[in-house]
Amino acid sequence: MTTHLTLNNGVVMPALGFGVFQTPPAETAEAVASAFDVGYRLIDTAAAYGNERGVGDALGASGLPRDEVFLETKVWISDYGYDQTLHAWEKSVRKLQGEVIDLFILHQALPGDFDRTIAAYRALETLLDEGKVRAIGVSNFMVPHLERLLTETTIVPAVNQIEVHPYFTQKALQRFGTEHGILTQAWSPIGGITSYRGDDSRSTFNDPTILAIAEAHGKTAAQVMLRWHLQNGVQAIPKSVKPARIAENFDVFDFALNAEEIGRIDALDTGVRGGPEPEAITLETFGREIPED
Ligand code: NDP
Repeated sequence: MTTHLTLNNGVVMPALGFGVFQTPPAETAEAVASAFDVGYRLIDTAAAYGNERGVGDALGASGLPRDEVFLETKVWISDYGYDQTLHAWEKSVRKLQGEVIDLFILHQALPGDFDRTIAAYRALETLLDEGKVRAIGVSNFMVPHLERLLTETTIVPAVNQIEVHPYFTQKALQRFGTEHGILTQAWSPIGGITSYRGDDSRSTFNDPTILAIAEAHGKTAAQVMLRWHLQNGVQAIPKSVKPARIAENFDVFDFALNAEEIGRIDALDTGVRGGPEPEAITLETFGREIPED
C-alpha cells in the first residue's frame, strides 16, 4: 500500500493528510501539532478557513524541516482575477509564514463568471512558473468546469479536491480526472458532512455495512473509510480536533480491505451531495473578504 502519490508534474504528496476546515483559529496550531506528532505530513487549509496562521505556527514550532511537510491551501472566490489571485498568494504565504506553497488550488469554480475563474487559474500558472508554488489545482470543479479549464489554460490541474465519502462518490467525475491525469482528493473523506447537521441517523459513522467491515478487521468506521479511499487511489484529508481521533485516522496502514468489501462500500453511494451545489456558487452568495494578515 503506497503512502505517497505522485502528481502529474512529478511532485510527490502524502496519500493521507490532515484537514482543518471548521477548526477554530485558536485551536488550529494545537490540532496540527497533534497531527505532526502521529506522522501526518500534509496539511490542507484554505484562505477562507481563517486558520492558515495556526498551520504556519504549528509548522514553525514543530522543528520539522520544511521539505518534509506538504502545505496545501486554497484561494477564495473573492480573490479571483489574475492580479487578485497573485495577491492572494502573498496573503496566504504571509500567514503560513513560509516562502513556497506546495499545492495552491482554486476553492470553487465561479460558473457565472468563469472568465474570472480562468484568470485566477492563469495566476496559479504564473506562480508555478516562478517557483512560488510546487503544484496547482482546483476544488469542487465538475466535468464541464474541468473541460473548459483544460481548453482555455495550459497546465493540467494536479488535483481536483471534491466531496467523496461512501454516501457520495462522484465516480464519473473521478474517472474524468483519472483520464486527464488529475488526482482526486476527497474532502469530508469520512463523511463528516453527513453528520455536521446533528442528524446521526444519516451519518456514515453509524452505517451498518461500514461498521460490520470495521468489526471484521478490528478497526473503526473512520479507519475503514480512509482505507477505502487509499485503496481506490484517492487522496484523503480527514479533520479532527481530538488527539485520539487524529491518531486513529492515521492508523490505517496495517490492514487491507478485500475487493468484496471495497465493492460493498462503493455500493453505499446515494448520489446525494452534502455540500453546496457547485453550479450555484456566486460572489453575491458566498463572497467575503479575505484579510491581509
Ligand atoms: P471529515 O470527513 O474529515 O469529518 C470530520 C468530522 O468528523 C468532524 O466533525 C470530526 O469531529 C469528526 N471526526 C473526525 N474523526 C473522527 C473519528 N475517527 N470518529 C468519529 N468522528 C470523527 O469532514 P470535513 O468536512 O472536515 O473534511 C475534511 C477536510 O476536507 C476539511 O478539514 C478540509 O480540509 C477539507 N474540505 C474541503 C472542502 C472544499 O470545499 N474544498 C469542503 C469541506 C472540507 P472532531 O473534530 O470533533 O473530531
